[in-house]
Amino acid sequence: KSLTGAQIRDKFLQFYASKHHQILPSASLVPEDPTVLLTIAGMLPFKPIFLGQKNPDYPRATTSQKCIRTNDIENVGRTARHHTFFEMLGNFSFGDYFKEQAIAWSWELSTQVFNLPPENIVVSVFEEDDEAFQIWQNSIGIPPQRIKRMGEKDNFWKAGPTGPCGPCSELYYDFHPELGEENIDLEDDSRFIEFYNLVFMQYNRDAEGNLTPLQNKNIDTGMGLERMAQILQQVPNNYETDLIFPIIETAAKIAGINYKNTDEKTKVSLKVIGDHVRSVVHMIADGITASNTDRGYVLRRLIRRVVRHGRLIGIEGEFITQVAETAMQLSESVYPNVRERETAIKGELQREESRFLETLERGEKLLAEIIAKTPKNTAISGVDAFTLYDTYGFPLELTQEIAEEQGLTVDVEGFEAAMKEQQERSKAAHETIDLTVQGSLDKLAEHIHPTEFLGYSSPQIIAKVQ
Ligand code: ATP
Ligand code: MG
Ligand code: MG
Ligand code: MG
Repeated sequence: KSLTGAQIRDKFLQFYASKHHQILPSASLVPEDPTVLLTIAGMLPFKPIFLGQKNPDYPRATTSQKCIRTNDIENVGRTARHHTFFEMLGNFSFGDYFKEQAIAWSWELSTQVFNLPPENIVVSVFEEDDEAFQIWQNSIGIPPQRIKRMGEKDNFWKAGPTGPCGPCSELYYDFHPELGEENIDLEDDSRFIEFYNLVFMQYNRDAEGNLTPLQNKNIDTGMGLERMAQILQQVPNNYETDLIFPIIETAAKIAGINYKNTDEKTKVSLKVIGDHVRSVVHMIADGITASNTDRGYVLRRLIRRVVRHGRLIGIEGEFITQVAETAMQLSESVYPNVRERETAIKGELQREESRFLETLERGEKLLAEIIAKTPKNTAISGVDAFTLYDTYGFPLELTQEIAEEQGLTVDVEGFEAAMKEQQERSKAAHETIDLTVQGSLDKLAEHIHPTEFLGYSSPQIIAKVQ
């Protein structure tokens, strides 16, 4: 019988506790670090320690950290392994043990605790990190054909242009070792899934770009809980694990459909709902409220995507609090604040949903008319897209998504021009009508921040984390 998600989380933490790591609770999704919008990795709460700004309370720690990565939003439901919300299991060394030990424990955990067959594991190292290569080959015994050297983009970590940095090594699960070792392509996600990333923080980079060895070398790691669950539960993707699937089943039931019998497009919608609902529940539990700026805007966008995908699969009325209830049941034993904040969570979701449903209905009617008058394979005008945005709360991507379904594109430049014009107008209007600071700030927020977020290019990720 395979391990549940909860058992995987426990086994990870207990394993590192047995190696004298202090188990620490997950930090909030709202990071203390002002340069990052949301907690995107297990290391984030420890960043001041790694940067040498704070002394650690323990030399070794292990956590299961709630994370949200909006840069992966386009992948949600489309790859088997990407979420906005996920849990990152991690073990950390603050100037204590280093590379050889971290590798040995990652191997012991993977093969002795999670019982992954060694022949199903392929690893990557940074191309210049001969030391890591040697450890994998000689101490662990992995055949060199299954140790892949990768470039700086994937296998070198830094927190910024200067400061601590170092090479990474990743563990991948090979679903098809029978395909042989000759042509291993770790980018091929039908065969491989990255599940564990080890960062060896060993250098300091100065302003001239020179690397000098750090006095205190650190270890920072991350294992995706949902990914390990997929592997161990032998399901085709993270979404069908016990961590998420019950949410999908609740949504499917409300829609009167059965996940297993639906087409690919419906499955994607169900997965988006299953993913985003976890995000929004935990965001509100951690004190975020919907707004038009920053985190609040991320929350609003995620809620709106849930509502929109609910409609795509045939749900007509309000449903988000029901799916949220399933998400809450799944996580309350580990994250008690989810039940403690039940009223806030459900109230916020319900308010946002009903408001959005109203505008959505009116906007959808308008968009249908626009689509009907737009010739196939052409673009919806920027002015129309802007009206949908400005009056009906349709984010540009929503219009693009719907347009795409109809074989149309959207004139993004025209959209931006219309937006700019509107800003000029509202600026002029505010000078004469609303002279209060708050009034103009609100307007600015409404009109500027949403577009900054539109590309999902994740400006909040200042550097590749792990
Ligand atoms: P990938 O290459 O698959 O996008 P990554 O290299 O961006 O993953 P890391 O930044 O190394 O991921 O994060 C450490 C671990 O966290 C990964 O090995 C993976 O198990 C997990 N992880 C990362 N991003 C996600 C995500 N969007 N959803 C679920 N798990 C994730
Ligand atoms: Mg990634
Ligand atoms: Mg990767
Ligand atoms: Mg990685």
